[in-house]
Amino acid sequence: MTKGKWHGQKSIKKKLSYLVMLLTISIFLSCVIYLAGGPKENKNQAAGPQGPNVRIFLSKEDKVVTLPMEEVLMGVLAAEMPASFEMSALEAQAVAARTYIMRRMDEPWGVGSGHADSDICDDPAHCQAYINKEAMQEKWGSNFETYYNKISQAVQNTAGQVLSFDGELIEALYHSTCGGQTEDGGKPYLVSVPCFWDTEAPKYESKVIFTANELKELLNVSSKELAAIQITSRSASGRVTGLSCGEKIFTGSKIRELLGLNSTNFAWLAAVNGSEEEYIFTVQGYGHGIGLCQNGANGMAKEGKSAAEILLYYYQGAEIEKKY
Ligand SMILES: [Zn+2]
Ligand SMILES: [Zn+2]
Repeated sequence: MTKGKWHGQKSIKKKLSYLVMLLTISIFLSCVIYLAGGPKENKNQAAGPQGPNVRIFLSKEDKVVTLPMEEVLMGVLAAEMPASFEMSALEAQAVAARTYIMRRMDEPWGVGSGHADSDICDDPAHCQAYINKEAMQEKWGSNFETYYNKISQAVQNTAGQVLSFDGELIEALYHSTCGGQTEDGGKPYLVSVPCFWDTEAPKYESKVIFTANELKELLNVSSKELAAIQITSRSASGRVTGLSCGEKIFTGSKIRELLGLNSTNFAWLAAVNGSEEEYIFTVQGYGHGIGLCQNGANGMAKEGKSAAEILLYYYQGAEIEKKY
């Protein structure tokens, strides 16, 4: 268009008709965008089926809220796995988390939760961590939109998918970093498998140094008992299951808790540093080590493996089925 036409006296009518036309076009376009859900809204709301409603107990707020499954999954994914991970790792996590929730529901497919009036809670030590949209905004800052859309995609891409074994939903346990070998979870699909993909994980191996005095205090043992410290049993995957200090007996989990170790897969070296006796603990991995290794999943995804390939590796013999 030229300036002359727009500014000419004679073209006022023409100008008006142009305006009307433009207005009509823009109204039409807005309608189309609105009906399509809008580019932003469309990504922010799961387009697929929402799944059953889930009652989740929010421990901080001390209340139970009921939300569609896919919305709960967004919050679990955001809390449980770095959104920077590869798409097929996020998809695998979505299927594991969905299975975990569905198994706890008071429905024909579930086995119950152990919660009085909810299906799950947001305590990662009991069920799975969960954060709401505001917490995601805080967590991701300027990456919010990118990450939100990414996890939304992972949830939508796997809509309704769960893992089953022998016709029952599996106990879909997962952890951050197995450290090279997952732990046997006591179920046919939770067998110990080698993991070659988590060596780059930040917590693949960690070191913690305690002085003898610190250890005596943390374990509540005498000098004589500490001098007799020894591992009494390890699981097949190498994790410490039993440890003794003289007469005092500990489980591996108890030691992990008392010393704040990343996992029960540890060993130590006693050394003398000046006048202090030190115990240098080397710990493999992070978490209980059972089921899906999140960092291993990310490594597999980087090698081009699909969510299904990842899941069926860490949950051996399981099947993926669509529940809704
Ligand atoms: Zn719980
Ligand atoms: Zn691993």
